[in-house]
Amino acid sequence: MKTLPDRAGHFGIYGGRYVPETLVKALEELTRSYKLLKKDRKFQEELRAYLEDYAGRPTPVYEAKNLTRHFGRARIFLKREDLCHTGAHKINNTLAQGLLAKKLGKRRIVAETGAGQHGVASATAACVFGLECVVYMGEEDIERQALNVYKMKLLGAEVIPVHSGSRTLKDATNEAIRDWVANVETTHYLLGSVVGPHPYPAMVRDFQSIIGKETKSFFLKNWKRLPDYLIACVGGGSNSIGFFYPFLKERKVKLVGIEAAGQGLNTKRHAASLTKGSAGILHGMKSYLLQNRDGQVEPAHSISAGLDYPSVGPEHSYLKDSGRVKYETVTDREALEGFKLLTELEGIMPALEPSHALGFLKRWIRKTKRNEIVALCLSGRGDKDIPAVRKAFEKGISGSDPGKRKRNREKV
Ligand SMILES: *Cc1c(COP(=O)(O)O)cnc(C)c1O
Repeated sequence: MKTLPDRAGHFGIYGGRYVPETLVKALEELTRSYKLLKKDRKFQEELRAYLEDYAGRPTPVYEAKNLTRHFGRARIFLKREDLCHTGAHKINNTLAQGLLAKKLGKRRIVAETGAGQHGVASATAACVFGLECVVYMGEEDIERQALNVYKMKLLGAEVIPVHSGSRTLKDATNEAIRDWVANVETTHYLLGSVVGPHPYPAMVRDFQSIIGKETKSFFLKNWKRLPDYLIACVGGGSNSIGFFYPFLKERKVKLVGIEAAGQGLNTKRHAASLTKGSAGILHGMKSYLLQNRDGQVEPAHSISAGLDYPSVGPEHSYLKDSGRVKYETVTDREALEGFKLLTELEGIMPALEPSHALGFLKRWIRKTKRNEIVALCLSGRGDKDIPAVRKAFEKGISGSDPGKRKRNREKV
């Protein structure tokens, strides 16, 4: 298999750089600098130290024995990105780009955020590297995510509300790009997933592939074999591609990406861009996109804010077409069941994003054998989602409320 992207940032027909002329120079400078830093021992060594001593890497791989026993099929292992500082894999990328910004002599970073998780991770990295931090966030999201907005402010970031369009992530991204164009001499755009124009999809993938590298070493060292399946949720696609990337050439390892089916694929309330979308252009890249017949972007929906994006990283589009990765979908309701299962059986409250991968297990794991191994990327912890989970359970969206089973057990 060829290494991708090509020099112009294409993954097959996807990716590339669909941007105004004013951005080309900045993207070329970033591509050049990143290429040098990638091979720079000192940069890699410094980054390694931050990832280990600050973010808490390597994260453990935990054998979820209760969950395995519950299903009675393949052994299930969890890659614990939920234990990273700030609660998810996003810090891997923001520390790396923060360090890169500093090396490039920039003193300011701009970032987009939807639910605020990438905003908080960016503001955190800005503290570490002494950078000024501006986060663009849709007005709608600011209202929904007051706690993260406050966290960003505590961390010293400026949060700028975006009033245009649907007043969510898509619009915040446009504003962050606009800011970058205007201030490119002093500013680095810290993009939060494997999306956007070249070199972001490849660069963010490289920064997140530490997840897959650690997983691979773990299995080779302790089990003298690789897992049979890797499963991860796909929003923009950074935790999944980071998990999958070191395994792409291991043809025996089956890779499964889980998209959000929201309230159902037959409704308009979902975020399954690979499953239900078609090739189009958004945020400087060509990729699968939820769009209507006129090419207007359709809004995405998922109970998990991190999966609520109408497109997906271009490498995923390529991997879907090539068949190397299978993409499946999981509804809000199934994700809540996944959340509940892991919480009750293992005492780990997952974020709603990886709860989709857990929800998929429930439906699919019957097809596996007892001597097989499934590794699942637990991309983040659930603290941020407790209000949403509570609201959903109180509304009765996922059948019984989570306390019920325990109460029943006490009675027995
Ligand atoms: C942001 C987020 C995601 C989705 O983003 P990807 O780029 O697809 O990884 C998934 N899980 C968690 C916990 C997140 O915070």
